[in-house]
Amino acid sequence: MTKTKVDVIKNYVGGKWMKANCDRTAEVFNPATGEVIAHVPISSQKDVDIAVETASQAFQSWKEVAVPRRARILFKYQQLLVDNWNELAELITIENGKSVKEAYGEVQRGIECVEYAAGAPSLMMGSQLPSIATDLESGVYRYPIGVIGGITPFNFPMMVPAWMFPMAIVTGNTFVLKPSERTPLLANRLAELLEEAGLPEGVFNIVHGGHDVVNGLLDHKDVSAISFVGSQPVAEYVYKKGTSNLKRVQALAGAKNHSIVLKDADLENATTQIISAAFGSAGERCMACSVVAVEEEIADQFIEMLVNKANELKIGNGLNEDVFLGPVIREQHKHRTLQYIETGEKEGAKLIRDGREDADTKREGYFVGPTIFDHVTSEMKIWQDEIFAPVLAISRVGNLESAINLTNKSRFANGACLFTRDGGYVRTFREKIDAGMLGVNIGVPAPMAFFPFSGWKDSFYGDLHANGKDGLEFYTRKKVLTTRWV
Ligand code: NAD
Repeated sequence: MTKTKVDVIKNYVGGKWMKANCDRTAEVFNPATGEVIAHVPISSQKDVDIAVETASQAFQSWKEVAVPRRARILFKYQQLLVDNWNELAELITIENGKSVKEAYGEVQRGIECVEYAAGAPSLMMGSQLPSIATDLESGVYRYPIGVIGGITPFNFPMMVPAWMFPMAIVTGNTFVLKPSERTPLLANRLAELLEEAGLPEGVFNIVHGGHDVVNGLLDHKDVSAISFVGSQPVAEYVYKKGTSNLKRVQALAGAKNHSIVLKDADLENATTQIISAAFGSAGERCMACSVVAVEEEIADQFIEMLVNKANELKIGNGLNEDVFLGPVIREQHKHRTLQYIETGEKEGAKLIRDGREDADTKREGYFVGPTIFDHVTSEMKIWQDEIFAPVLAISRVGNLESAINLTNKSRFANGACLFTRDGGYVRTFREKIDAGMLGVNIGVPAPMAFFPFSGWKDSFYGDLHANGKDGLEFYTRKKVLTTRWV
């Protein structure tokens, strides 16, 4: 292991790569090998102040740039992302661990956010009513709001920042990104490509670090809005602190996503989709399937098919093309996951596939194999908590209604999926289930740039979701002009 002689990465402020004003750094690991691949600075309040001041100054001129000119930079950026697609995907795999195929898909989701934002000249249009009263007309005009702080998690180093900064900057705001300290490398590559696309200095900035940088952004009077994505406790904290400082805040939080499998479902499709949704990206997706409520009549058949498919998954370094299941993000997270498996056994759930065996055979890197519990109930911690690892809980239910009632007991409500061939069941599911993102006969109701994305209940704090028209609304404010032409 190379524990020394790896660089401390730099912050990106005002178009320059700057050494952080701090003595502390954290190690960045390749989770598939345990190797230290970089050190990330744990930047200070001073670094936040410099970045926000730079972004505030840049805002004064950037907001005046014609919208089509801002969009043209994103067109160039889109092409650069496409040209560097493979390299970006490999970098994601190296710092995050997910398979390179998953990483390739993540880059695609990010590129789509850029493509959507490049439509800003149409999206930002206002509207008029020429006769709101006699001789009186009114119109609405849309403007940026200032400096935006973006705080992102480790699990999607490209896609989650891309939910934020393309729309934020194309609408005329400037941006300070605080990437996850566990996956900071891809963000710097995104900045290099923005520079190559011709983005003016100071419009996009990066301050690396941990909670001090987050607090710095939340407290800074010149930060107008915060976009946060991460775990539930931090999302709640960010939302409360940011709004008490009178900022706009959208905070996307943790999850425990449920799939319901009915007896009329195509079980071949259902098991393939659920395997991918539960164990893809090592279960470290906010849309991962972590609980299945399956109708009792088909439960044995469903479970047998599921376990057979789980046994076939290739575990290893995600850079190897045939690998499906990579490592979890850190050694500590691996141990937390193993503890949850013990907890599940103690709680009385039936362990039908034990991922600890794969963990034992792979000592390099932070691997846990696909783990499946049967007979899980809502009283168990493995049903309630977000484990964020390749651990799947199965509960047996009598019918759709009891499956929906069970699912709605969860404090989280990010996503939910239904497997059925019956349109009537789909309607009941859509109307009765608590969740922001729904899927039918798919495993992951994935975020798409063009639609709003978020959960309900403790999976989201705020009102305007990420992406789609909600993203546009979040990063802009409006003026209404009423005119009498007499
Ligand atoms: P995390 O909450 O640990 O970190 C997210 C960000 O918050 C990071 O930038 C981190 O530096 C910062 N942070 C961490 N602790 C903090 C603290 N005490 N005070 C201030 N800032 C702090 O999340 P993570 O482990 O990086 O990511 C995984 C979590 O993110 C999971 O819970 C997952 O469900 C969630 N997530 C949600 C969505 C969604 O759309 N709802 C998407 C992706 C990930």
